[in-house]
This record gives sequence, structure tokens and C-alpha cells, in this order.
Amino acid sequence: MSKVAAPNKYAYLFEEIDAVKNHCDGDWEAVRGLLGGKGANLFDATSLGIPVPPGFTVTTQGCNDYLSGKEKFPTGLWDQVLDSIAALEKLTGKRFGDADNPLLVSCRSGAKFSMPGMMDTILNIGMNDETAAKLAKLTSQPRFAYDLYRRLVQMFGTVVMGVPDDVFEALITAQRRESRVLVDTDLDAKAWKAVTRRFKEITLTYTGREFPTDPFEQLKQATEAVFKSWYGKRANDYRNAAGIAHDLGTAVSIQTMVFGNIGDDSATGVFMSRNATTGAPALEGDYLINAQGEDVVSGTRKTLPIRQLASDMPKMYKELKQISQRLEKHHRNMQDMEFTIEQGKLWLLQTRDGKRTAQAEVRIAVDMVDEGLITIKEAVSRVQPDQVDFFLHPQLDPNALKNVKPIAKGLNVSPGAAVGIIAFEPGLAERWAKEEGKNVILVRPETRPDDVHGMLAANGVVTSKGGRTSHAALVARQFGKPAVVGVSEIEIDLDNHLMQIGGDLIIKEGEPLSIDGNTGLIYRTELPTQIPDFNDPYLLKILSWADDIRVLDVRANSDYPEDARLARQYGARGIGLCRTEHMFFEEDRLPIIQKMIIANSLAERNEAMIRLMPMQRSDFEGLFRAMDGYPVIIRLLDPPLHEFLPSAQDLMMELTDLKLRIQHLAGLKELDQTLEEIKEKTALLQRVEVLQESNPMLGTRGVRLGITMPGLYKMQVQAIFEAACRCAADGVDVRPEVMIPLVSHEAEFNLMREELEDKARRVMEEQGAEIPYLIGTMIEIPRAALTAGDIAKTAEFFSFGTNDLTQTTFGISRDDAETGFLVDYLQSGLIKENPFTSIDADGVGRLMEIAIKQGRATRKDLEIGVCGEHGGDPQSIHLCHKLGVDYVSCSPFRIPIARLAAAHAAMGIEDN
Ligand code: ADP
Ligand code: MG
Ligand code: MG
Repeated sequence: MSKVAAPNKYAYLFEEIDAVKNHCDGDWEAVRGLLGGKGANLFDATSLGIPVPPGFTVTTQGCNDYLSGKEKFPTGLWDQVLDSIAALEKLTGKRFGDADNPLLVSCRSGAKFSMPGMMDTILNIGMNDETAAKLAKLTSQPRFAYDLYRRLVQMFGTVVMGVPDDVFEALITAQRRESRVLVDTDLDAKAWKAVTRRFKEITLTYTGREFPTDPFEQLKQATEAVFKSWYGKRANDYRNAAGIAHDLGTAVSIQTMVFGNIGDDSATGVFMSRNATTGAPALEGDYLINAQGEDVVSGTRKTLPIRQLASDMPKMYKELKQISQRLEKHHRNMQDMEFTIEQGKLWLLQTRDGKRTAQAEVRIAVDMVDEGLITIKEAVSRVQPDQVDFFLHPQLDPNALKNVKPIAKGLNVSPGAAVGIIAFEPGLAERWAKEEGKNVILVRPETRPDDVHGMLAANGVVTSKGGRTSHAALVARQFGKPAVVGVSEIEIDLDNHLMQIGGDLIIKEGEPLSIDGNTGLIYRTELPTQIPDFNDPYLLKILSWADDIRVLDVRANSDYPEDARLARQYGARGIGLCRTEHMFFEEDRLPIIQKMIIANSLAERNEAMIRLMPMQRSDFEGLFRAMDGYPVIIRLLDPPLHEFLPSAQDLMMELTDLKLRIQHLAGLKELDQTLEEIKEKTALLQRVEVLQESNPMLGTRGVRLGITMPGLYKMQVQAIFEAACRCAADGVDVRPEVMIPLVSHEAEFNLMREELEDKARRVMEEQGAEIPYLIGTMIEIPRAALTAGDIAKTAEFFSFGTNDLTQTTFGISRDDAETGFLVDYLQSGLIKENPFTSIDADGVGRLMEIAIKQGRATRKDLEIGVCGEHGGDPQSIHLCHKLGVDYVSCSPFRIPIARLAAAHAAMGIEDN
């Protein structure tokens, strides 16, 4: 018995899937962690009986032990590689390093999570002068043999030895000129032989080292190079951007080469099992006849669409289709595959779940349910709230995108597309947009709080610096502006009003730009945009399934009948918040409400209210009709009154003007008129000064207004119930819910409730109707949450005004915070999340929990909702579900997202 522990098992043959599963206790995620995604799927496909060229995988543990062990192979690793090569020789009947019957292999990188193109792969390992010469004879295809050889030297030279690829490409270009041919495929064996010789010379001069002719040495160095590429800059940057852990390591798959470049009965290609743009169930991809590996993606040759293979090689196409169906069924997802056809024999070289657009995701999920591949719950869980959001924002027209190349790429921080002309200054952006009605893209090195006006005026925002939590990113997301930030290729010259990309491309202010906030790509032209169809039948299906799963109901915040109709179309079941003040701001009403505010006597005030009542009544009628059969919550007037009046400063200036004018007036009539005006304005000013509060957010607003301005809320309730009676008379199912805002003490609520109920009953008696209704309150002040048990004695429903509740809980005003210190807090990472975007679970959420518990203890059937923007935020929706809220209410455009997020919450699936 030896005292030395047996070395780790670092290498597994593709056929040893059971051993790997055993090692990982059957956990497939662990298998992928160990073999990498590419490797694990090759093992899997092998076990399904799909033709995969034989090979083996050196585990990520091998990589990690190599990297942590001062870049030395850990004990046993190399021996296991040699044993595995011997196994491959047995399987293939060829020999590694035997020029008469050579086994050639590829050395492929592959981490747990796909990092496309970030690490390296080397093909045709095992080639050298002798093998090339013999293979040329053996196959009677000298061109093929020397093409393989030069590819190895080229890939090995760049990846392992560090020669820039440009050097090699320049040599090929020179050879083409010398041979008088236009494309690489026309170079013959002699030409490739010459190129290869020069490649090796260049490598020697460049690195001082010889290209290794010994196949084993090639394999060893290639394996090490793939290990090391894990910490390459490209891979590091990618992991940072994609949020992939740095300690996973890459696996290395060593695989028998198959050749797509051995004649016209050979080919290589990549394809998806469905259309990745639309989701339609048809193979989509490209291939090349007589080509190898990277040729298809490198764009050096014009590829053929995969459907042409159906006529070029019908048998191969049929087999490809069968394989793709097998793999889809097995993975229960759309597959992205690589294949090679070697002299009429099809080989699968890679498969993974395919990347796709939001539209495709939705359609594939629905189709796969119909095909019996996945369950309804799985389909609903696959679609992300973000992907639903896609259907509601303008997007760049995918057809137009086929013909343009992006000029740069940055971080995709705020979704949707924006098109316009470039402005480098926020002031200019605002002027162009507002005064000249132009579409503008604001381009800045970075943004600051003073730039917000320009960002708001622009259609989209681009910055050359900053990351996902930069000011520009935060503010753009906040206001739903498409944005791409951190486009490091862009260099902005503010003095000369231009930007440079990659040194030579110069773009001036006023020139067009299109940006795609979903992909982070930027285009130097005005591209057409389109709004995706919300009535996409597949999306409607997913959402209706989500409705069956979710527990939380979804209502809309709508102030106008038109919004309410839209909200209903998007799936709202009721209105959770109608803000009556919005109606007051309308042009024909503002003067009347101003009269009401500045009235000197009760009679004067009543007169104004009497005029307002019918206007409100018709607003409410419209809402009730639009929401026939669903509850409509109407919030009584909430904002401080000064918001309806001009500012004291403006009034003073106007008064000064008027007084100056008097001196120049001729007629007596004019004089009288002006004096009257001065009198009115002075009265208004006095009232404005009286109403001025040093902290209006915490001042006379909400229920405090209702109490201090007798008659106001009663008038609104009269309008609500008259409207309700009228609608009911027409057969509309009306369910008004009257909401009293900003209550902090049960006494406030009780006082108001009594008065209003009295009014409601009287209206219904007059109209001879009986309407079911509720009177409730908003919970938006900590004291209300803490005494919710008392308030619930008389309140029939609660609605959390989470915006104000966040302000009052944190003791901050949102307007000041979001353009000031809160941005600093977020940027420095002092706090992780903007509490106005996602409900602060630990503070605000805790208060909600208390209020819900107490409220329901007093009144079992208390209806509890959340209104405010949080109602459309997936993370907040998850919290609401957990707290047992009955419904969330949000703006019409967020309703589809809320429906899906509520279903995810019910299934316990996290939304990112
Ligand atoms: P990447 O992750 O960059 O796609 P791959 O390891 O998939 O790298 O390999 C690059 C290309 O070489 C792919 O087109 C792949 O199909 C091809 N390839 C890799 N190994 C072999 C092999 N043994 N025989 C033929 N082609 C191969
Ligand atoms: Mg690949
Ligand atoms: Mg409020």
C-alpha cells in the first residue's frame, strides 16, 4: 500500500458520463461546473447516441489546480491525458504522432457558463512537416493537408506563442497577390506550404522560440494556453460584465478532428433549432462547403443559409433536423449547434441553449408547451419581466439592422431604442428638442445632476465613461430613457463639438445616431424604429397563463378614461389609484379651483365648488364605464393647494408690471380694468403667501386639506356617487372605493368618514340607487402603519402609498434625493438599491408587514393594495406577494410586467 494519496481524476472520456455524474452525486449543475458547458453537453450528446467525434475533457479542477500551482500541471494530470489519448487511438484506429496514420485533435476551451469567443481553441494538433507530406499522399489531397498544417501553425502561433494574428494574415494576403488569386480557397498546396514555412520563420523571429514539431509538445502547450486564457484580459472583462465568478476555471476538451475541408462532399456550419429572432420553428443558420471550423463565423467567405443544405445534401439536412429535435427534446430548450460534414458523414461538435430575442423567447415557450416539451409553469417561468417590457418599448427595426454595422458597443443599461441627432451639451439637447422639435441623442463623457434637463429632453443617452451604476445609467432607467453608457471606444471632444471612434472615425454634433439600449450597440445613422405588437398572440398566451398562476391581483393607476381603457387592454382588473388633482390642472378648471382656494367667504367658495362638481362627475363616469365590473379607487384631493396657484415671485413681478402700466394709461375704462386686476392679483398674492409652507410635502395636504377646507371632499364624494348612480342606471357594474390620503391618526379618518358616508347615502337616496362601495385610506405615514389596527376599525381598505411611505420612513424628499445625495449613495455603493425603485424591504417593508398584520387582526376581510410605481417593479411585487397584499396597482404600461412578476412570485421564482 502506498502512502501517497491517489491523484485526482482530471480527465474523463466523452463516454464516461456515468462516472462524472457519480463524482458529482448526480447534480447536473456540478457536472457542468466540472466539465464546462461545452464539455458536459458533448458527453450528454455522446450518451444519446448522437455522432460526436471521440474525445475527452480535462476538468475545471485541472485548470484551477494548474493556475493555483504556479502554472504547473498537478500530479497525475499529464499521465491521464496520455492515457486518454491512448483510448482515443483505440476508438479511432489512428495514432497520435504517427505520420502514416495520424490522429489529429482539437484543444477546446469551455467554462461552466458560455463565454463566446473569449477563450481559445486550437485545431489540427498533431500536424508537422512529415505528417503534412504523408497526409497529402495518403489522401491524394495535398491542398487539404497543407491547409490543415498552416491553420495549426497560425492558431498555435497566436494563441500559444503570442504572435499577433495580423502578421499571419498579412502573409496570406501577400501570398494571394503572388499566386494571383482573390480568395484563400483558391490558394493551392504549394502556396499553403510556402505560407506555412514563412509562418514558422516569423514565429521564430517574433518569439525566439521554434514552433514545436512534436505532437505531444503541441498538445501540452496548447492545454496550458487554454488554461491560461481563463485569466486573459478578454475573458476577465467579459466575466466582469456578465457577472460570472472568476474562480470557476475553464475545462479543456481534446477531441478527434473531423474535416469539413476535405472536398465538396464536406462542409461545416452553425445553426439554431428555431429562429432566434421570431421563435418560428424552422432551422436557422449558415454553412460552408469545403471549410473548417471558424471559417463560418469569421466572415471571410460568404456563407450559405442552412435551408440550402436541404437541396445540396438532402440526407445530411434530414439528419441535422433529427439531431436538433433529439437535442431539443433532451434539453427542453432551443439549441445552438455546430456541425461538420466529413465526406458525407455528419458530426455534431457543440450544442448549447441558444440566445434569442424577447419575442422568440415568448413564442418558443408557448410552442414548447403545445409540443408537450415543457409545462405551462415552466413556460411562464422562462419569460422574464424584462422580456415583456420589450413589447412595450420602441425597438430598432430588425430588418434595417441586417444592413448596418454598429460603430461601437457599450453597456446596455436602459432598454428600448432611440434615434436622433447628436448633442453634446444638455442645454443644446433641450433647445433642439423643445424649441425645434428635433429628436436628440445626448452624448456626454458622463452625466451629472445639472445635466438631467438635457437627458429628459433627449430621446436617448450615451456616455463614454461610467458603468451600470453611473449617474447616467441610474437616471436613464429612472425615467425610462434608452441609454448606453461606458462606450470606451468613443472619445468626446467637447471643445470642438465632435467625437472620435477608434481614432479615425469623426462624428460631429448634429449628425444622426441610433442607439439600442437592449444590446448596447450604437449606429451612425437614423434607423427606423417600430413598436412591437403587444397583441402578439404568444405574449397574450403567456400572460393569460400567468394570470392563472398568480395570487396577487393587478390594478392600474389611471386618471383618465382613456388610460383606464388602455390599462384594461393590458390586463388591469380595476383602478388602484385615480388622482383627482390631475383633472384639476386642466385649463378650463384651474381658474375655478383657484377661485375656490382664494375665496374670502364660504358662499364664494361653495359657488366655485358647485361649478367643479359636474366636471368631476363626468370624469368619474368615464372611469366607471371603462372599468365596468371592476373596483375603481378614487383618491380625494391630495396635494398642497399652493400647487394650483402661481408662484409668489411671478405674481409680484406681474403686479410691478401692472403698476407701471397705470402711469401710461389714457382711458378711464382701461384704468378701472387695470385697478381691478391689481386688486385681484394682490388678493391672490396674499393668499399665496398665507399658503406658503416651508415644507409642503409634510404640510397641509391629504386629509389635512379635507379637514381644513370643509366641503371640498364632500363635493368630490357627491360627484363620485352621482356618477356611480348614473352608470348603474345604464346597467354598468360600478364599484367605487373612496380613498382618503395621508391619514396619520385614526381621528382624522373617523371624522372624514362620517361626513362622507353621510353624503354618499344622501346622494344614493336622492337617486334611488344602492351602490356597493368602500371607504378606506392610504397608508403612507409610519404612524398610520403603526396604528393600523385602530384605523382598520373604520377603514374598509388600505392602500400603501409606497412612494410617500418611503419618503416619510427615510425622512427624505424624493425630488431632492434623486437628483442629489441618493445618486452619490448609489454610486459609492453605500446603499445597494434606490428605495424609490424597489421597496426597501427592511424598513418600509417592515412597516407594511406591521400594518397588514394589525389591520387584518381588526378586520379580517380588509382589502390591501399597493399603489405607486413600486407596484410595477418585479422585486417589489415579490415582496408584496410575500406580505399577503391583495393587489398591486401601477401605470398601464407596467401592467403586463406586473402580471408576469406576480406569477413568478407565486411560483417562488426570483426575478433578476
Ligand atoms: P468557440 O468556443 O470559440 O466556438 P470551439 O471550441 O467551439 O470554440 O471551436 C471553434 C471551431 O472549431 C468551431 O467551429 C468548432 O466546431 C470547430 N472545431 C472544434 N473542434 C473540432 C474538431 N475536433 N473537429 C472539427 N472541428 C472542430
Ligand atoms: Mg463553439
Ligand atoms: Mg401620497
